[in-house]
Amino acid sequence: MEKKELLRGLPKIDEVMRQESLVVLSEEKGDLLVTEAVRAVIADLRQSILDLKEKEADRFDASALEISAVAEAAIARLAEDEELKLFPLINATGTILHTNLGRAPLCDDAVTNVSRVSIGYSDLEYNVPKGKRGSRHDIVGDLIAELTGAEDAMVVNNNAAATMIVLATLGAGKEIIVSRGELVEIGGAFRIPDIMMQSGAYLTEVGTSNKTKASDYENAIMTEEDIEEGDWYDKDPRHGERFETGALMKVHKSNYDIVGFTEEASLEELVEIGKKHDLPVIFDMGNGLMLDMSEYGLREPNVPASLATGIDVMLFSGDKLLGGPQAGIIVGKKKYIKAMKKHPLARAMRVDKMTFAALEATLMKYRDPKLALRDIPVLRMISTSPDDLRQKAEELATAITRVAPDLKLEIVPVEDQIGGGSAPMVRLPGWAVSVKDGMKSADRTERKLRKADVPVIARINEDRLLLCVRTIADNELDTVARAFI
Ligand SMILES: *Cc1c(COP(=O)(O)O)cnc(C)c1O
Repeated sequence: MEKKELLRGLPKIDEVMRQESLVVLSEEKGDLLVTEAVRAVIADLRQSILDLKEKEADRFDASALEISAVAEAAIARLAEDEELKLFPLINATGTILHTNLGRAPLCDDAVTNVSRVSIGYSDLEYNVPKGKRGSRHDIVGDLIAELTGAEDAMVVNNNAAATMIVLATLGAGKEIIVSRGELVEIGGAFRIPDIMMQSGAYLTEVGTSNKTKASDYENAIMTEEDIEEGDWYDKDPRHGERFETGALMKVHKSNYDIVGFTEEASLEELVEIGKKHDLPVIFDMGNGLMLDMSEYGLREPNVPASLATGIDVMLFSGDKLLGGPQAGIIVGKKKYIKAMKKHPLARAMRVDKMTFAALEATLMKYRDPKLALRDIPVLRMISTSPDDLRQKAEELATAITRVAPDLKLEIVPVEDQIGGGSAPMVRLPGWAVSVKDGMKSADRTERKLRKADVPVIARINEDRLLLCVRTIADNELDTVARAFI
């Protein structure tokens, strides 16, 4: 066939649009996008014909020009265009709060509640019994107070935002005292000294990298009198400007540990100093653990116990060990929380109805710790027993063998992690299925799993591909197996 003939064989858009499959699709998606897909397919075909050398024209597969073939190509093109950039995948790494994989998965009730509340209107800022304007801050305030013993609470976009608004409210133009052992970088650009500067507060570092005593905080407190008298001036060789102290701050060593010859001030000691000098004490605790989970190897502070020491303001994430949506939760004394709610940054950091819906449903579970451990995925994954994990690994191996009998599988013990910059020293004893695909390298198999319809993210250890079952939900086992087809 000659090129000219091929070009004449290109179907018209209208002809293709009359195909039954496209008529149906147009009804569902509207004809604008469908027509556009057909036009694009025909344009591509025309271009590829024009690009042919005259003697190649014979070899061109003319069946691609048939109306039904063009319709099919248009449907495929449309499906490709509609692929969403944010999609679910399976975490087989055994790292529970995987930051790159979206941190905490939500519990079922949280997801249901998001859809219940956001599909229509809600009382986000409306007091229904009174028939007048309400405040979104009231939504979870009482529940958080009930669960933690806090006087009041406020929810912002994440814990980084919480740190910012706490420092801006209590520390702008004042000094905030922090231990040199706790000047944390959480990740990316989030470093305590930098956030401090952004908030308008002045960082006063005390102690050393390994040892900070309670007296170090107390000795660093500046009062208006100290500044007027200027005693500090001769002690500081640089004669830097000093400001009144606004607060004492403790930051949880979330993602690192200092071991050996060490000392740090306890919350109790800081609370005592704060009381004596009439200064608020802030605790950035980070992970938001609500229950004592030391029986599962997790020796971390928890929210109610930390608050019980008398801390004035405490902040933590919603999507770390609390197991809810991304949020920063600030709890503490009413007068401080009230000031934060009024701060101009509050509006810039406020969360929407979907976050409140997910958070409220998640927090409800904590009314009964047994329910929280059973229903909140993060807590369930931490508390699953090694025996149950081993059994799950065996189930996964059986499912894989069913679809891919030639793979060499082994059930092996592994050490899982909390992740998400939390409890870095904790190793949770777990189980995995180790997979060997003939002579193929583990890297190659890993790439293949990432290309599956539902991508599976596996762990590689010493050229072994590991599917760690702790982070794989029961109803995902078959999907993981199908990724090998
Ligand atoms: C994780 C963490 C943060 C930051 O929290 P995001 O919710 O990620 O913004 C701040 N401080 C501490 C101590 C943390 O552990």
